[in-house]
Formats: sequence, structure tokens, C-alpha cells
Amino acid sequence: MLFLPHVPVQMMNVRENTSLLALNTFRVDVNTRYHIEVSDVQDIRNFIGSELHAIQPRMILGGGSNVLFTGDYNGCILHPSIKGIEKTSEDKGSVMIRTAAGENWDDFVRYCVENGWCGLENLSNIPGTVGASPVQNIGAYGSEVRDSIETVEAIDLETGRTRVFSNRQCRFAYRNSIFKSELKNRMIITHITFRLKKDHNFNTSYRELNKELSLYPETNLGNIRDAVITIRKRKLPEVEALANAGSFFKNPLVDQTGLDSLKRSHPEIPFFKDAYGSIKLSAAWLIERCGWKDRRIRNVGTYKLQPLVIVNYGGASGSEILEFTQKIQRSVQDHFDIVLETEVNII
Ligand SMILES: Cc1cc2nc3c(=O)[nH]c(=O)nc-3n(C[C@H](O)[C@H](O)[C@H](O)COP(=O)(O)OP(=O)(O)OC[C@H]3O[C@@H](n4cnc5c(N)ncnc54)[C@H](O)[C@@H]3O)c2cc1C
Repeated sequence: MLFLPHVPVQMMNVRENTSLLALNTFRVDVNTRYHIEVSDVQDIRNFIGSELHAIQPRMILGGGSNVLFTGDYNGCILHPSIKGIEKTSEDKGSVMIRTAAGENWDDFVRYCVENGWCGLENLSNIPGTVGASPVQNIGAYGSEVRDSIETVEAIDLETGRTRVFSNRQCRFAYRNSIFKSELKNRMIITHITFRLKKDHNFNTSYRELNKELSLYPETNLGNIRDAVITIRKRKLPEVEALANAGSFFKNPLVDQTGLDSLKRSHPEIPFFKDAYGSIKLSAAWLIERCGWKDRRIRNVGTYKLQPLVIVNYGGASGSEILEFTQKIQRSVQDHFDIVLETEVNII
């Protein structure tokens, strides 16, 4: 543990017994005992040196677009609002961009596209913060953020020490990383360095994206971003209109034996090989096959165009949403003997 001087709570940006309604995209109406905004690295050190550091449980909350609160949070929420984007180096083919955790993800993607830096354009329009992007290794339209991450800087909330994780040390996997597993809520990510390409080696192999791009006169960074946003707006509900947290479940992975046995009873089951060489099934297809497409129970439902997205029609509690999703999990397990894992963090 680093020596950190005792810091009075009055010196910190702390709110007590405060609502999280506007701070989670499921719009679940819960309170937290403490909400602490940290706007620079010193604020994090101040927190570690304060009496609030002893309070448990403790969690980190970015934009709240990948969480489901099932009740009041009787602990400390740390919210990183650290800002800043800087070019740290550059060579003929690439630029290194160090970005702070509190920057808005999509504003950052737009900034990269406007500067002609390639790598993040397929990840346009994903809600949330830059700091959360490595946590579940955000992915869309054939890209994952791990492809562009050089290092992740984080502070260990137990010891106060700064750690710099190389791409390999982040242990990125499908919707997972060391920050969502072993080091969840222990490491607070402060900055990420992205390696972005100046030469435009686009990734447009994803079928739907390719099809959309055929409507544009040429394939360039701006048009890819535009096409991705168009597809997403067509398929996904805007959180401002219909509260949700994106895909609620991960696509399940199976081995060849598992797939062969599923194909015997369901020959039409769709599957594909992912970037890690694993066999992935479509969670949306499984859910739909179990009769959950566009189903609603009181204030919770599956989105009509994408059953993987669970929506709060207004006023649903976190436990009501959780109960609904557990019903879906049970159906899929009974029907296919597959356990759907949640992508959203249940709290
Ligand atoms: C409409 C919609 C569409 C979406 N589409 C996609 C998609 O296409 N692909 C995809 O991958 N995701 C998608 N998501 C999920 C979500 O946007 C991403 O997971 C996003 O990265 C979450 O960012 P956030 O800042 O809101 O994180 P939060 O929801 O606040 O937190 C998510 C997790 O990260 C941790 N965390 C957050 N910040 C930090 C930090 N600085 N240091 C350490 N831990 C931290 C939290 O503790 C929590 O466990 C979508 C969500 C919505 C609502």
C-alpha cells in the first residue's frame, strides 16, 4: 500500500443517498449510499486516503449502459469523469492516442474518424465511456476494441499503485477481460492508449455492414461510421426513447460435440466461428425460438426487432427486469439445454 495522507471527505466530490435513476440506461429507480466523482488521478488517491475507502461494497460506474441494479446500492460508487485526449506519438503508419476514462466513447470515435485515424469506426454509436470500453472488450460489426488497444492504465484501489496493462495482460476475450473477471472493481481504469492506423485498412467483412456500404459511392472512414450508425438506429432502441442496456445475454459458445448434438434435434440452428476460433450460437435465435420475440410482462419486454435487448417500458424495478430475464434463461435451458450467460453486469 502506498503511503497516502488522510484526506477529509469534505475535499471530495461526494453525494450521499443519491438517486441513480439518470445514471443507468435501464432507468431503474434506485439510490446509492455514496456517489463519488473522481475527475483526475489525485481524486482517486484522495478517495483511497479517505475514510470512505473502508466502506464496502464498492463499484465503478461509467455511463451505466451495461449494468442492471436490482436494488439500492448500500456502498460506494466511484464515477470516473477524467477528461483529455492527446497524441503521444506517431510514425508513418499509425498514431498513439492516450484518452482519459471519462471521455464519451462515441464522441471519441467521431474525433478519430474526423482525424482520419482508422480502427474504431465499426464501434460507432455504442453508449458509455472510454474507460469502460476494455472492460467487456466492446465489439460490433466484426470489430472489437482489443484490436486497437495498446495499453490500459489503471489504479489499484486496494494499494493505490498505478499499473499499466499491455494488450496481452488485459486478457481480452469475447465480451470479457481481466477487468470484468479477476480485477473487477479493483482496478479503476484512468487512461487508455489506442494504436490507430493512418493507412485505411477497413474491416467491412461483416455482411450487414457490407450491404449497407454498397449504397454509398465509396468506402471511407466517414461512410463506415455513417453506415454503422444507420444500421444501429434501424435495429436498436434509443435509450432516451426506450430504456435498455443493449444485448442482455452473450452469444453462447459450444464445442463441436455440443454443436453436433444440437444439430441432430435442431438441424436449422445457426452457428458461426468467431475471431477466437470458437463456435458461437445466436442467443437471439434461441430466445426467439422459445417464443420470447416481442413478449411483454407488465413493464418489461423483449425489443420487437431484437429479442436480445430487454427493455423497460417505464417504471420497472431491477428485480422485475431480472425476473423476466431469468424466465428467458429457463426457457432456453429447458428447450436447448444451453445456459445463457448475461452480458450485462447484475448488481
Ligand atoms: C443501446 C445500447 C447498445 C449497446 N451496444 C453495444 C455493442 O454494440 N457492443 C458492446 O460491446 N456493448 C454494447 N452496449 C453495452 C455498453 O454500451 C458497453 O458495454 C459500454 O462499454 C459500457 O460503458 P459504460 O461507461 O456505460 O459502463 P458501465 O455500464 O457504467 O459499466 C460497465 C462495467 O464496466 C465497469 N467500469 C466502467 N468504467 C470503468 C473504469 N473506468 N474502470 C474500471 N471499470 C469500469 C463497471 O464497473 C461495470 O462492471 C450497448 C448498450 C446499449 C444501451
